[in-house]
Amino acid sequence: KAKYPYQPEFLQAAEEILTTLQPVVEKEPKYEKYKILERMVEPERTISFRVEWVDDKGEVQVNKGYRVQFNSAIGPYKGGIRLHPTVNEGVLKFLGLEQILKNSLTGTPIGGAKGGSDFDPKGKSETEIMRFCQAFMIQLHRYIGALVDVPAGDIGTGGREIGYMYGAYKRLTTKYEGVLTGKGLNYGGSLARTEATGYGVVYFTDAMLKDRADSLKGKKCAVSGSGNVAIYCCEKLYQLGATPVTVSDSTGTIYDPNGIDVAVLKQVKEVERARLTRYAELVKTAQYTPVEQYPAGKHQVWCYPVDCAFPCATQNELNEEDAKTLLQNGCKVVAEGANMPSTLGAIKQFLDAKIAYGPAKAANAGGVATSQLEMEQNAGMTSWTFEEVDAKLHNIMTNLYKNVAETAREFGVEGNLVLGSNIAGFRKVADAMIAQGVM
Ligand code: NDP
Repeated sequence: KAKYPYQPEFLQAAEEILTTLQPVVEKEPKYEKYKILERMVEPERTISFRVEWVDDKGEVQVNKGYRVQFNSAIGPYKGGIRLHPTVNEGVLKFLGLEQILKNSLTGTPIGGAKGGSDFDPKGKSETEIMRFCQAFMIQLHRYIGALVDVPAGDIGTGGREIGYMYGAYKRLTTKYEGVLTGKGLNYGGSLARTEATGYGVVYFTDAMLKDRADSLKGKKCAVSGSGNVAIYCCEKLYQLGATPVTVSDSTGTIYDPNGIDVAVLKQVKEVERARLTRYAELVKTAQYTPVEQYPAGKHQVWCYPVDCAFPCATQNELNEEDAKTLLQNGCKVVAEGANMPSTLGAIKQFLDAKIAYGPAKAANAGGVATSQLEMEQNAGMTSWTFEEVDAKLHNIMTNLYKNVAETAREFGVEGNLVLGSNIAGFRKVADAMIAQGVM
């Protein structure tokens, strides 16, 4: 805390992880002996650079770019690129730290990383987005590679941005290799990657509920966000018999007790790239609440009577008050699509209430797991069908749930998947670090 007082998100993530790792550190003295905790919270390398590009008016723009290469003990660095004005080194370090354990939990050989820029894609033209992505890659291409570091999408980085970055990498290096994931289907992308994080959260929840002799059938669900993760979370909820009744963005919340219309949502967000006010124009039964009218200290999206909640927007979007409101309204299941959406106070509420709570690094690991499947297809110069990839994703999420639930049981805290996922993810990476020595 004394070392990084200006990185609150990183400290928050580190505190959550380090606290829950205490039982395993006490049980296995080797982790203390080799100073694994101290080593794991310090990135192997952080690259920061200037991104300079020219806007449509011919003016020079300058942004800050980063890549935090956090841990490569079990495989090449892997993690998304976030483009959002709130990006700074501390935010990327929190995301990178989480990513190490998440990637380990997928059971596939990938290390942890995260990158991004404080560039704001909102309001930028197509050509400005393209020039920014190219300028970003002019710097980044030196530090990545198919067996070195494989970035992917995140907030603000979707298929379009990955395409521009990939094109720039190829021109700069003359290499056609699987250096980025989330690519278009006609140049190395994987079927089902777009859907993977949202579908994966729901597969995880399905496994969590089966273990409690319950199912998603007939459940009403609050979903936050309306981007990649939220859209495909809603889609899969319907497929498993549940009904998503909310979505949100940074300016407002939609509530429709009849259920969210996924086709309209896709049209508004993926095609028109418009705000949710447009959704409210198109769907007459939808109630729209702008941010200014949210109850003080709370987020509107968590204020409705639901059985399950799926935070799929951003970090710290569900606070202690929101958690209390959800519990009072009868919510019994929370599964995190976004990274660190719940504050420490909210997590405590869920654990104390002993509801089914799936923390992000377990519940949203389906995205990166499918990215790794994209890397496998690229390495083999092949492509699998949607059904094959989806079946592998389903299998990975079910096994992942079993692993974290079993680990929680091993440490005597049945159902505490925060502890289960931190310890299960940690052990594999820590043992690999010890095996590889110190130099
Ligand atoms: P998108 O950019 O597609 O969507 C993000 C959504 O969250 C948008 O609806 C956005 O609204 C909303 N949002 C962003 N910031 C805020 C804020 N401060 N307050 C309220 N709403 C906000 O991103 P993704 O769907 O890809 O990512 C969402 C979350 O899931 C992130 O935490 C990401 O790290 C995580 N994640 C994503 C994975 C993936 O495969 N895409 C994999 C694993 C985790 P607006 O348009 O108004 O900004």
